[in-house]
Amino acid sequence: MQIDNVVCAFCGCVCDDITVIVEDGRITQAKNACVLGKAWFQGHGHPSNLPVARVDGQPVSLDEGVDAAARLLAGARYPMIYGLSSTSCEAQRQAVALAEVLGGNIDCCTSVCHGPSGMALQGIGEPTCTLGEIKNRADLVIYWGSNPADSHPRHMTRYAVTVKGMFIPRGRKDRTVVLVDVRPTPSVRAADIFLQIRPGKDFEVLWALRALIRGQVIDAASLNGTGITLAQLTDLAERMKHCKFGVLFIGQGLTQSRGKHLNTSAAFLLVRDLNAITKFALMPMRGHGNVTGVDSVMAWQTGFPFGVNFSLGYPRFNPGEFTMVDVLSRGEADAALIVASDPVANLPRPIGQRLAEMPTVALDSHESETTRVARVAFTTATAGIHVEGTVYRMDGVPLHLRKVLPSPYPSDEEVLSRLLARVKELKSC
Ligand code: SF4
Repeated sequence: MQIDNVVCAFCGCVCDDITVIVEDGRITQAKNACVLGKAWFQGHGHPSNLPVARVDGQPVSLDEGVDAAARLLAGARYPMIYGLSSTSCEAQRQAVALAEVLGGNIDCCTSVCHGPSGMALQGIGEPTCTLGEIKNRADLVIYWGSNPADSHPRHMTRYAVTVKGMFIPRGRKDRTVVLVDVRPTPSVRAADIFLQIRPGKDFEVLWALRALIRGQVIDAASLNGTGITLAQLTDLAERMKHCKFGVLFIGQGLTQSRGKHLNTSAAFLLVRDLNAITKFALMPMRGHGNVTGVDSVMAWQTGFPFGVNFSLGYPRFNPGEFTMVDVLSRGEADAALIVASDPVANLPRPIGQRLAEMPTVALDSHESETTRVARVAFTTATAGIHVEGTVYRMDGVPLHLRKVLPSPYPSDEEVLSRLLARVKELKSC
């Protein structure tokens, strides 16, 4: 069976032109998908022998699992909900509602990737656009601290570099592509200009660029130690001022290096300055398939995109206080609910140890380090493979996920909504 126009929810590109071939209940081909997308599609559909729910490693029914998980969370003083970047917006909504009823914390993977971008966005405003506008209009494309050739393999061909657009009829020939990074990466091959910046010097270079854009004179010596010369930076500033439509894509090389939200604030301010001269946009290179969605869902439900606390009965936001790594490092949380994420494998080792020691509930479509240590573990269907749902592309455009395979497992949304209902019952007793 052939299914067209399937959406790949693996990375923030959320490509919606995938053709999937299903044979004998398995996905055998994912045409148009990149190597990451192919692995994502073809890695699903294998028969699983995992039970729908386990308590202390023993198989139980879904109802029994929900009851055990609800008791564990409802009895906690300071529960933490985390993950959510690889599930649907419908499931994310249930998780936010659950955090509110529990009076606990909710945080998502944004806090360890583009949290500094969210903070800059709140302070400065986001000069943004859609990937469609970039495809059709951008004649200057800058990637700063990002390696899309490896992390988002179709980003350059589908949206930003080689693709032809309405006002960019010759595609690659009509664009100038600049890469700024601390080392050469596979993406350098696609760039006209590569600026190798010294690690931790992003803020200084962005601030000097702002000065040049504003016509101020800067001393060449002020760039000593940054890896960038005044001539290189002046050339980039002139290109930025004279392009018709520029875009600055920022990656974790900027958000997670020294300076963090000061780096992103400098980038946002630079693009704001540029809009007094020409048209310029900024876009974070979001990683997981629906990490943009969870920021949006949390923002529209609580006012804040990540690191939200409900312990006073209303939402409070404070990165560093209510974010996953910080809450667990201080040993404050006494229970955790992890949704579609594997923090035991991916976050610092002490966080994984803490999750293994405390009562943890985990929802995932496959066995992971986190489901292995969880007191209650649910096996769920994958959004975009086994169940429909909504995801947000990195530019904030929502897309509908299609179901391409049947699954014996419930969706994250179903498990979370049952959990919410049971927690409400327990809290009202
Ligand atoms: S670029 Fe990302 S969304 Fe597109 S096919 Fe590859 S993994 Fe999927």
